[in-house]
Amino acid sequence: MLDLHHDISHLISGNKLRLAEIPEDEIGDDHLFTGIDTPLRKDAFDLSDKEKMDKIAYHFGEIMHSLGLDLTDDSLRGTPSRVAKMYVKEIFSGLDPKNKPAVALFENKYKYNQMLVEKDISFYSNCEHHFVPIIGKAHLAYIANDRVIGLSKLNRIVQYYAKRPQVQERLTMQIGEELKSVLKTDNIAVVIDAKHLCVSSRGVQDNDSSTVTSYYGGKFLNENTKQEFLKYIGGL
Ligand SMILES: [Zn+2]
Repeated sequence: MLDLHHDISHLISGNKLRLAEIPEDEIGDDHLFTGIDTPLRKDAFDLSDKEKMDKIAYHFGEIMHSLGLDLTDDSLRGTPSRVAKMYVKEIFSGLDPKNKPAVALFENKYKYNQMLVEKDISFYSNCEHHFVPIIGKAHLAYIANDRVIGLSKLNRIVQYYAKRPQVQERLTMQIGEELKSVLKTDNIAVVIDAKHLCVSSRGVQDNDSSTVTSYYGGKFLNENTKQEFLKYIGGL
C-alpha cells in the first residue's frame, strides 16, 4: 500500500507551480497543478446550462463518431445528450457558483470548544487531467469560535468542490479555505484519502495505492491537536 502524504497548507498564498516547460503527458500522470483556484475563463458562465448541454452533446457525439461508433444505434443514440446533461447538471455542477451550498451558521450556545470531527464523507470527483473518477473520503474537523455549522453542510461543501474537474491537492485546499471563511476560524483540518482511476485503470495500473492530502490551520498546526484528530479518523 503506497500512501503519499502531502501537507499542502504551505502552497496557499498564490504560490504557483511553473508547468509551461513540462511535457503534457507528465503533467497528467504526475498530477501537477497550478494553483488553488480552478482555472476558469472570465466568460465561463455566459452560456446558459441549456446552451452548454447542446454544445457538449454535439462535441461528445463527434468524439464517439471519431472512435468509429455508430450513433444511429438505438443504444448509443442518446449518449451524447446524456453525457452533456450529466456533465452540466451533476458531475461538474460545482463549477458554477450558483450551485454553491448556502451555509447557515448557528451560535455556539453550548460554548463547545473542543474539536468537532466529521469523518468518512464519501465523494466522487473527476481528475482534470484524464476526466476519469477520483473516489475517496474526506475527513474534516474544526474548533469553533462563536459559531457552528450544520453537519450536513460540511458534507455539502465537500460535494460542491468535488463536482469539478479536480486534482486532489486543490480539492483539499478549496475545502479547507471554504471552511475557514464560513466558520471564521483558522482552526480547520482536512484530510482526503482517495483513489484515482487514472492511476489504477490506466497508466501505471496500480490497483492498491491511494493518495492522502491534508490541510491544517490554526490550532491543528499544534502536533498534539493534529494527532488527536488523526486518532479520531483512524490514524494515517
Ligand atoms: Zn488523472
